[in-house]
Amino acid sequence: MKLPIVAYGDPVLRKKAEEIDEDYPNLKQTIADMFETMYAARGVGLAAPQVGLPIRLFVIDASPFAEDDEDGDGDPSLKGFKKVLINPIILEETGEKWGFSEGCLSIPDINEEVMRPSNVLINYLDENFEEHEVQLTGLAARIVQHEYDHIEGKLFIDKLGPLKKAMLKGKLDAISKGMVRVGYKMRFPHVKKKR
Ligand SMILES: [Zn+2]
Repeated sequence: MKLPIVAYGDPVLRKKAEEIDEDYPNLKQTIADMFETMYAARGVGLAAPQVGLPIRLFVIDASPFAEDDEDGDGDPSLKGFKKVLINPIILEETGEKWGFSEGCLSIPDINEEVMRPSNVLINYLDENFEEHEVQLTGLAARIVQHEYDHIEGKLFIDKLGPLKKAMLKGKLDAISKGMVRVGYKMRFPHVKKKR
């Protein structure tokens, strides 16, 4: 089942999410629903707070970045880079910071260059609660860093400079009020329900 994606301005996106264990209700279904929601919205990552759940869980599938687009800068190593990360911990971020134009399904229509370290060492549980520790680099690291921020209550726009932030304020207010065209179902915090 596709879930509505929570839009910028909803307090759930600003909460530090809680760890879960294997008894979390409907976990398998929640994970399946999150993948379905992410694919329908053409995203490469989706964190639980984005569907209104304040838990430390996100799903990623970087396959779209594996295909060569018009720039010819696809990364074939990302083919099949599909993962469920539960209770992840970033152990280390290393390497030079590099810029990449990020977007977010909760903040439609805004893309801005964000600087992040190139490598990340992460520990997490998969959907079977098996523990993994992996070193990621490039776009794989980037997606994990972006989604990890979500479960910490952070958004990519927080990393922009004050001038950029000021320029985006009107657009962000409009998003929270539902004044944005978007090709998937969203839940807007500041839309008054019609009687
Ligand atoms: Zn996001």
